[in-house]
Amino acid sequence: MEKHMAVCPYCGAGCKLNLLVDDGMVIGAEGIDGVTNEGELCLKGLSGFDFINDTKILTPRILHPMIRREKGGELERVTWDEALDFTAQRLTEIKEKYGPDAIMLTGSSRGPGNEANFVMQKFTRACIGTNNIDNCARTCHGPSVIGLMDTVGSGAMSVSIPNLENADLIMLFGYNPSASHPIVARRIVKAKEKGAKIIVVDPRSIETARIADLYIQIKNGCNLAFMNAFANVIVSENMHDKAFIDAHTNGFDAWWETIKNYTPESVAEVCGCDPDDIRKAARMYATAPNSVIGWGMGVTQQRQGVKVVHTIAAIACVANQIGRDNAGLAPVRGQNNVQGSCDMGMWPSLLPGYQKVENPEMRAKFEKAWGLPAGTLPAEPGFKLTDLPHGVKEGKIRAFYNFGEDPLQTEPDSADMKETLENLDLLISQDIFMTQTTALADVVFPGTSWGEHDGVFSASDRTFQRFTAAVPPKGECKHDWQIFQELSTRMGYPMHYEDTEEIWNEVRELCPNFYGATYEKMAGTGHAQWPVPTLECPGTPTLYKNGQFNTADKKAILMAHDFVEPTELPDDAYPLVLCTVREVGHYSCRSMTGNCKVLSMLADEPGYVHINPADAEARNIRDEDLVWVSSRRGKVITRACLDERINKGAVYMTYQWWIGKCNDLTMHVTDPLSGTPEDKYSACEVHSIDDQ
Ligand code: SF4
Repeated sequence: MEKHMAVCPYCGAGCKLNLLVDDGMVIGAEGIDGVTNEGELCLKGLSGFDFINDTKILTPRILHPMIRREKGGELERVTWDEALDFTAQRLTEIKEKYGPDAIMLTGSSRGPGNEANFVMQKFTRACIGTNNIDNCARTCHGPSVIGLMDTVGSGAMSVSIPNLENADLIMLFGYNPSASHPIVARRIVKAKEKGAKIIVVDPRSIETARIADLYIQIKNGCNLAFMNAFANVIVSENMHDKAFIDAHTNGFDAWWETIKNYTPESVAEVCGCDPDDIRKAARMYATAPNSVIGWGMGVTQQRQGVKVVHTIAAIACVANQIGRDNAGLAPVRGQNNVQGSCDMGMWPSLLPGYQKVENPEMRAKFEKAWGLPAGTLPAEPGFKLTDLPHGVKEGKIRAFYNFGEDPLQTEPDSADMKETLENLDLLISQDIFMTQTTALADVVFPGTSWGEHDGVFSASDRTFQRFTAAVPPKGECKHDWQIFQELSTRMGYPMHYEDTEEIWNEVRELCPNFYGATYEKMAGTGHAQWPVPTLECPGTPTLYKNGQFNTADKKAILMAHDFVEPTELPDDAYPLVLCTVREVGHYSCRSMTGNCKVLSMLADEPGYVHINPADAEARNIRDEDLVWVSSRRGKVITRACLDERINKGAVYMTYQWWIGKCNDLTMHVTDPLSGTPEDKYSACEVHSIDDQ
């Protein structure tokens, strides 16, 4: 039996493991001593390997290229040459007829590494000539990236995952680590065992609330009101650090002009909690020697996601709970390489390494490196992933290249997304499984899976780690970066990379903060946390040490905003709040975990709607009953799970099921500052199936 070192493909915790291979089959996984996991794995890391072998439990692997010659026709198997020629010709026609901005691409934050994403964004910018490139962060932590870049300068965790366990206080705000990052949850348990205080603020009494020193159950959709009041207490009770504020921040007076209006009493009704609990939490946070605020989708998938991130960053600054190893900000990213997708410039306003497309010096640097005439790279930020529906309706987007994502499953308002995808002139999908989106494609490219390719992932805490292939690509699958470069070459911008190290070395040369992260440094269980600007630098576990923020004058920018209510409030027709959440055994659109024997047995179609027993009783619904859940967008059948941990007036569903999918019900309304959907709040109703 062979062992091949890899990084788990299921979340941003970045757990290192060995894939065990026997006779060409991946037969097991074992945790190894990675920097974030120290040998431990959760159930997905331990049991999530066998889809690589093409188990065909949910859907078969895609093993050869396919094209649909005309709309309404069938997908047919073709050779690679025919598929690439067909696609290059169609993309070129669309570019010539409608311009490069009529083509939109989205990268993959899952199995493919940073190298594949770098080549895809290079193809987008240098060959097609547009900044219409995005990734799934748009739907999850986009507000964290934007909100942190606006205020403290770097769109990432300021602390490292290992250092979480040495914090004196951890406050979780809209973040459920035991479901989304179990090994991060383990660090929080260890912190508790070492004496840390834990605060959980969440509408649901999540698993971590069981070990919390203070659990505050808030109403859905009140985040900014709560955080403004939390900040108000810190300053009103003189717990802010005036010397730090004077030396290391800008804008305190204007910030306080807004924050001073949000006393705990003033938000008690909106938040549905005891004002004294807000005071207690703020005192615990501000007076602990080292405090961390961790947040997740509960913050970002809201109408005011960016504004809440601005406020969290400001709170950390005014309380001087930032810039130390065990004090800072922890927006823990979802998909395993979503941090890497952003690092590689899969973002319509950012070149690789967070270098802005609007900056002429940055564009000139990339043009020179990529052999492009001066002035070639586009300066205007491109479309966001969530611009796709209206971009297609308005005739601005004609072609969409989908790499390793499944927007029909994971984006809001599925009916609208299906119409969007069907109305494209050209839909290209590059994936390992026939997902809901790929089934609609005009071109299907079979990419390689985790376990079949080499590269570098970025964990949620900015840690670069290498992974290696355990088995050769299945069937006719090609490495993803090879597909992009062959397409680019056919479209007149040749690329000739030999391997992923050559690509990574180009990334290092172009991104000063990544330069020191060599393959050599990352061999075995080696790693490097960016910024890692020199070969000698071991990496930077903690950002903003000594109050040096990554802004023009090295000072943080304090930003405050007034609270506004969510877009679609409950009413008589739809009296419940629908909030989307995660299922611990499944991941993203379920194409990977649904094809793993162990994980697929944990839960099955049609999933569950989690509901408070009182709300269920009022509707004559019992545990495990089949029910209808309806909203203004649609109606799905699922099973009821009666759960005391659920707050009254709200229900919770995942988006991973083909039957009973919550995204048939959610609405396409986005945070105007980030374009991130308001997935955590829409109005719905639940009925017993006997009622209709
Ligand atoms: Fe994989 Fe995340 Fe589990 Fe670690 S915590 S084993 S990275 S799913």
